[in-house]
Amino acid sequence: TKWVYTFGDGKAEGKADMKNLLGGKGANLAEMSNLGLPVPPGFTITTEVCTYYYAHGQTYPAELKGEVEAALAQVGQLTGKSFGDASNPLLVSVRSGARASMPGMMDTVLNLGLNDATVDAVARLADRRFAYDSYRRFITMYSDVVLGVDHHHFEEILEHYKLQHGHTLDTDLSADDWAALVVKYKAKVEAELGKPFPQDPHEQLWGAIGAVFSSWMNARAITYRRLHSIPESWGTAVNVQSMVFGNMGETSATGVAFTRNPSTGENALYGEFLVNAQGEDVVAGIRTPQDLTEKARKAAGSDKPSMEVALPDAFKEFERISHVLENHYRDMQDLEFTVEKGKLWMLQTRSGKRTAKAALRIAVELAAEGLITEQEAVGRVDPAALDQLLHPAIDPKAERKVIATGLPASPGAAAGAIVFSADEAEAWKEQGRKVILVRVETSPEDIHGMHAAQGILTARGGMTSHAAVVARGMGKPCVSGAGALRIDNAAQTLTVNGQTFKKGDLITIDGGTGQVLAGEVAMLQPELSGEFATLMGWADKVRKLKVRANAETPADARMARSFGAEGIGLSRTEHMFFDAGRILAVREMILADDEAGRRSALAKLLPMQRDDFVELFEIMKGLPVTIRLLDPPLHEFLPHTAEETAEVAKSLGVDIERVERRYKELHEVNPMLGFRGCRIAIAFPEIAEMQARAIFEAAVIAAKSTGEAVVPEVMVPLIATKAEFDIVDKVIRDTAKAVEQETGATLTFQVGTMIELPRAALRAEEIAKGAEFFSFGTNDLTQTCFGVSRDDAGTFLGPYVQKGILEVDPFVSIDVDGVGELVKIGVERGRKSRPDIKLGICGEHGGDPASVAFCHEVGLNYVSCSPFRVPIARLAAAQAAL
Ligand code: ADP
Ligand code: MG
Ligand code: MG
Repeated sequence: TKWVYTFGDGKAEGKADMKNLLGGKGANLAEMSNLGLPVPPGFTITTEVCTYYYAHGQTYPAELKGEVEAALAQVGQLTGKSFGDASNPLLVSVRSGARASMPGMMDTVLNLGLNDATVDAVARLADRRFAYDSYRRFITMYSDVVLGVDHHHFEEILEHYKLQHGHTLDTDLSADDWAALVVKYKAKVEAELGKPFPQDPHEQLWGAIGAVFSSWMNARAITYRRLHSIPESWGTAVNVQSMVFGNMGETSATGVAFTRNPSTGENALYGEFLVNAQGEDVVAGIRTPQDLTEKARKAAGSDKPSMEVALPDAFKEFERISHVLENHYRDMQDLEFTVEKGKLWMLQTRSGKRTAKAALRIAVELAAEGLITEQEAVGRVDPAALDQLLHPAIDPKAERKVIATGLPASPGAAAGAIVFSADEAEAWKEQGRKVILVRVETSPEDIHGMHAAQGILTARGGMTSHAAVVARGMGKPCVSGAGALRIDNAAQTLTVNGQTFKKGDLITIDGGTGQVLAGEVAMLQPELSGEFATLMGWADKVRKLKVRANAETPADARMARSFGAEGIGLSRTEHMFFDAGRILAVREMILADDEAGRRSALAKLLPMQRDDFVELFEIMKGLPVTIRLLDPPLHEFLPHTAEETAEVAKSLGVDIERVERRYKELHEVNPMLGFRGCRIAIAFPEIAEMQARAIFEAAVIAAKSTGEAVVPEVMVPLIATKAEFDIVDKVIRDTAKAVEQETGATLTFQVGTMIELPRAALRAEEIAKGAEFFSFGTNDLTQTCFGVSRDDAGTFLGPYVQKGILEVDPFVSIDVDGVGELVKIGVERGRKSRPDIKLGICGEHGGDPASVAFCHEVGLNYVSCSPFRVPIARLAAAQAAL
């Protein structure tokens, strides 16, 4: 095995595609050398050494020492210096470098090789002040990073020294001052460690190399790897590189840059530099850095000269190289450079991190410039990051008075007056006020309040709590589970850490971070740029999956259209039942003792449902619309107060006791596995009949008004057996015939089912003999496959993910191995008896990029997700097809 790879002087043993072996930094240093760019010579110790080191009780392969010596000698030759030599010493930096850039790894050590002898050589060859300034920097860094002597020790000594000698700035210190400080620094190290600061450069070098490899297993690195799913087996590389000095006076400098603006994407060099400074000074914020370009300087109104003016030749060279690198890597680059006495050196290049907005613009412009293809551009934008663009965000410049933090349950920011009930939210909204609905937790009867509110804040509940799921569906910002909130519904107050807020007080929530802020904080509205539409257009050309939306209100349906939905994949009719004008009739229907009672309530509901569907069909103009029959447990609609019960009794014309008795009869221990779904339609066919009638009559009306054929897809929920499906199917088809006879119209429609119980997936072949389409209801399917109640999962799913029992929350991203297997079975068996069966998915997973990729692979026809996630699904579907 070869353990060491050299680079420098226009060539290298490695190259860019050897990241696994050389780490990102090492591979790109090699690539830049190969491109003939000015890179200080050096070498990379491979990640395989790291693997070896841990497999062999923290020891190195036998050949390593020799290879490092040889590489050092080669670097010495290229630089005309010699490592450890007392007359012309080579100084190096030691830099860690994993495959993916990884905070948590060892910090870089600069100026390694300095000791009491070599410092004098540097003083003679260059400048005495510079030499001792470098030496004290080296002692500080090496002690901090390698020896574990914290840098504050040295900062205190420095502060004390400055005070004693009447200096204020570091630049006030002379060569003698730094020399005196070096003596004090070394004494401090000896006092702390009981042994002197290492003087032997080779000992220094191996100490630093060992520290890099050890840092692979430090707590910070381990946590970072866990959070970003980076396997431990990857290991890190070590880069040893000859030093170039940005601290050699006014014609020297160090800086960082992006080839394009990382927050806006604008195609203009963007970055900062510092004159007479070394490496980390720029990031450390010791002095305020200067702008690179004149344009940026003017825009910032700074009076410090830009690099363009201060170091014009080096700047021109840097500008040229930034183009070379961008063209070569065909992506925006993040660069580090140093200018030593007017000569430019490149120290790092990598693809730059960027905001979603910048990612879009850069991808589209790179394609327009011909650097990448349209398809590559589609692959360059993270679908999940689009969320950032579709919602308002808190102005980064605004002051944040954080009063509590909960879970970032649904993205976007919202501000409004505090209200504590859904009814109040609705009432205030009608008066034109903006409100935040604050609840301990929400339940289905809060839906109208959630619709009316700008955002939702709850004290209890996880990422898949009712509030979180519904808010995401509505595209409303939501912070859930802010445990520090004390909500007093009687007093109508919200107390948090001793601070009390009343109803009507203004707050702001940030659903992207989970923060709750006092007052109304300034916000930036989302603006969908031309690039957004362009990239989406390219995505649409590639994808195979269709994308529909889950929507029932006209507002959601319109939103879905504007985001490019190609139909509605799930319209939850029960959501229409909570509206103020209807809930009474719904309660009458449920609490009626007999069919006659139910029918008279249903007669009141029919025209309302019909109107709903007419509007949906009209908005969707001939696109497919899937309407699901009533699904949730009936108890969700029951009255909550004595007043409401009395109201229902009165309008049914019975006494209160009878209503209460019926109420008790409907009580269930486990409603999610109880009287719901098709079970309702089977027990009370008149309900399904009313809904089917509303759908078909609406189809006839909308076909006339739009001039487009309306093809409703009627969906039966929670089927376990074919027999169940057949019963409901017959009710629907009989109703269709009746409507055809009454109206003289011919209806085209489909009847299908949800596959959301394991049994339905297993018996799909049989069920597909009746059902004309399947929609995989993966929320319930996950619930029933795992035997985990989604509403109660918050308390134990978190630890499951932390302990690695589950990689991700299966309600957020589909469990490919288990739930996915059921979907696959459903697809295969369904197609056996009906080859052209239409297959889709609805539920939270339809908007999750990883789940969308899975849907593409198993060959579904479409995914359906909440309107705000439609663009995410379109892009994810395209990437799956690339
Ligand atoms: P990070 O990954 O934290 O950026 P780096 O190894 O890239 O760590 O380096 C830290 C700083 O030191 C950077 O500003 C870099 O440009 C600078 N640096 C690294 N090696 C050298 C060198 N050989 N000569 C001069 N500066 C260097
Ligand atoms: Mg760096
Ligand atoms: Mg369901």
